[in-house]
Amino acid sequence: MISSIAIQSTPAAQCAIAGTSRLLHRHVHLFSPLQHHHHRRQHHHSRRRSLRVRAIDAAQPYDLEARLVMRLNQSTRLKIAIIGFGNFGQFLAKAFVRQGHIVYAHSRSNYLLAAESIGAAFVSDPHDLCELHPDVMVICTSIISTESVLRSLPLQRLRRNTLFVDVLSVKEFPKNIFLQVLPPHFDILCTHPMFGPESGKHSWQNLPFVFDKVRIGGEDSRQARVENFLDIFRNEGCRMVEMSCEEHDKYAAGTQFITHTTGRILEKLQLESTPINTKGYETLLDLVENTSGDSFDLYYGLFMYNENAMEQLERLDLAFEALKKELFGLLHEVLRKQLFGKSEEGDVRPVLEKLPKKASRLLPPGAPQ
Ligand code: NAP
Repeated sequence: MISSIAIQSTPAAQCAIAGTSRLLHRHVHLFSPLQHHHHRRQHHHSRRRSLRVRAIDAAQPYDLEARLVMRLNQSTRLKIAIIGFGNFGQFLAKAFVRQGHIVYAHSRSNYLLAAESIGAAFVSDPHDLCELHPDVMVICTSIISTESVLRSLPLQRLRRNTLFVDVLSVKEFPKNIFLQVLPPHFDILCTHPMFGPESGKHSWQNLPFVFDKVRIGGEDSRQARVENFLDIFRNEGCRMVEMSCEEHDKYAAGTQFITHTTGRILEKLQLESTPINTKGYETLLDLVENTSGDSFDLYYGLFMYNENAMEQLERLDLAFEALKKELFGLLHEVLRKQLFGKSEEGDVRPVLEKLPKKASRLLPPGAPQ
């Protein structure tokens, strides 16, 4: 099988490769002859460039500083494998690389160029990936494919105390799968960065990051490693929220699922910008933009793998029906006045102003609950 890693001349990518090459030379076909030639030329070119020192007095302190930062980072630098290098995987990888971590990307599709442009190494074969002994395996596949992807990984090739992290938008499901599939000597951290490439494109400042330390070994090094990983998000300014996976799913169904559903309904209406947009309307347009970039797999996963989602969908439906009834009740009254010249006695509006918290309380008598 042909595997490939991408090398880019950023410091992070070079480090990724330095750590990688010893192992990969044993196991991995690195480049096709054409790529090899191309990279030799690039390498030759960059060597020539780096030898052209123009101002030695200016270059030295800068170099020294960079080396000091590098040495400092080495103690906390993690080797992070991202499994699932689609939209969100690439978005996360940029921050990991920016913070000096070594990133290996792995995915069903070939993301060699995307990884290269970010400064990560793309490893197409899962065996090669695991033999690189990443400190952290970040599962970033679609919710619906997570179980099969996890079960297909050659876990026996990893170090025995590898930290597994997931970033799925639902939490109880991956927690259960991890506990079922991963041997007890692996650590487990379930997380949900509650933002994406659109909402977090400018900054992650104050954006919520939910995490649950499901199973972390007691050794200092393992405790330090999980904190080290969480530091990536702390450093970006995220609002760190530690909560159980169960709690997360309850809250998320009422917030995230409703948000995505509303965004998708509005998208179907094909709203357009007008010369007289109000602030409220602009908010709706923003919502459509924020949610339409996400795959349908993601949305479907929010529905299928959060047991609270169905109730929220029913509540949404009932709320819409209740609102229509309210409007049509008024319309009915107006028509009656026009036809008969007087209104019926009392208030005819079948008002259902606020929905009870539980959707089942709104169902007609006798309906299955
Ligand atoms: P997604 O559609 O949920 O997932 C796409 C990723 O899943 C790609 O890497 C894709 O690999 C992989 N994948 C899909 N089907 C697969 C299969 N049958 N076998 C192997 N891999 C498969 O889109 P996403 O936005 O990138 O999200 C990734 C994860 O991050 C999801 O679990 C999502 O819930 C979570 N998340 C997303 C956001 C966001 O804003 N997008 C925010 C927080 C968390 P290939 O591309 O190689 O086919």
